[in-house]
Amino acid sequence: MANKVCVTCGAPFQPRPQVPHQSYCAAPDCQRERRRQWQRSKLQSDPDYQDNQMRAQQAWTQLT
Ligand SMILES: [Zn+2]
Repeated sequence: MANKVCVTCGAPFQPRPQVPHQSYCAAPDCQRERRRQWQRSKLQSDPDYQDNQMRAQQAWTQLT
């Protein structure tokens, strides 16, 4: 019995018992969007993470 609606695709889905506040269904595109949103909020709330990501990006750019 579905009682939540995915915020990305609008499809009804049943959240896992372990994750009652789940907002995204299990579709790969929606899970990708969920990670992107998580990363965005992480970047805004965690300066250390932002710094790490920036360094990783720079290191990667220098390799290519
Ligand atoms: Zn979805």
